[in-house]
Amino acid sequence: MLDRIYNFSSGPAVLPIPVLERIQRELLCLPGVGASVLEISHRSPPFEAILHSAEQHLRQLLTIPSNYRVLFLQGGSRLQFSMIPMNLLRGATGPADYILTGTWGIKAHEEAVKEGPVNIAWDGKTSYNSLPQPDKLQYSNQSAYTYFTSNETIQGVQFPHPPRSGSAPLVCDASSDFLCRPLNVADYGLIYACAQKNAGPSGVTVVIIREDLLERSDPNLPGYLNYQNHAAENSMYNTPPTFGIYVVDLVAQWLLNDMGGLPGILKKNQHKAQLLYDVIDTYPHLYQGHAEPACRSLMNVTFRLPNDELQTAFLQGAKQRGLQELKGHRSVGGIRASIYNAMPVEGVTTLRDFMQEFAARTA
Ligand code: PMP
Repeated sequence: MLDRIYNFSSGPAVLPIPVLERIQRELLCLPGVGASVLEISHRSPPFEAILHSAEQHLRQLLTIPSNYRVLFLQGGSRLQFSMIPMNLLRGATGPADYILTGTWGIKAHEEAVKEGPVNIAWDGKTSYNSLPQPDKLQYSNQSAYTYFTSNETIQGVQFPHPPRSGSAPLVCDASSDFLCRPLNVADYGLIYACAQKNAGPSGVTVVIIREDLLERSDPNLPGYLNYQNHAAENSMYNTPPTFGIYVVDLVAQWLLNDMGGLPGILKKNQHKAQLLYDVIDTYPHLYQGHAEPACRSLMNVTFRLPNDELQTAFLQGAKQRGLQELKGHRSVGGIRASIYNAMPVEGVTTLRDFMQEFAARTA
């Protein structure tokens, strides 16, 4: 505990202390099991109980309707960039529509075009600091699905509400804002998130898919890449990422029991983000926010300083206060403060105070 930094990493990222403490307590011996979760068979009753518990807690948090399946997969979100078009676009009558609001949507689109026809419904190029107005979305006829990234982790651009979709199912990459706020699962055909930002460690990806969409999967797909197999085997088609699933369960329990569920964590997240955006708005010449105010992310606060010297001095000063991992993604530079669910408010107020002091010193 003593030397813990305030960790603003974009992922893998900070986890809740009570979750880490519980992992530590249970690492030699799960209660009543006599071994750790790392050592037991995925087919054993204790692990089956963990898998069931993780699914039930996610269902409870998100009020997932019964006609949706919850899958725990591997391969990160990147594999979903391919699995989604492989399962939902192959053999479809129309193209898939992609809304591009930043780097991860672009990368998902690059994979989708390998699988079938894709239409770009909107592209936020070249600055990727905004979201489409509803009347600017150009959907295709008989679209197979509409794809969007609810939070662009690198640009710090987040949809406050899902975009208007046509009649096609909405597919959402929620990797960096999963469980940060309530959402209406019934609005979506498929939602997915790698766990390593807001829900657990790397190695497990949660996919929530409406049951009828499973019928689209081509039986000739490689077995692992076919959603139907994972649904039929309850995420036990092959050895699932057992440790990751266990941690996702603990994080879900922490949200339910300690944070007031998703409405409670949303309030905290809004408060934390506002603390930083207020400083950005107070010193707009020093802290140049990337995202337009209407689409600022609750999870990844992105801004630049006017030149490299100031940026370096800012990062150095921050580090001296235990504020770390604030450097923006290598592709865009600048500063990025990732303030996921588990970032304590003290971490954000310490950063806020430092930003104010740095501004006073620089003026
Ligand atoms: N989508 C988003 C929004 C992300 O932030 C990331 C990871 N930073 C990915 C996809 C890719 O995730 P992974 O590394 O698990 O493949």
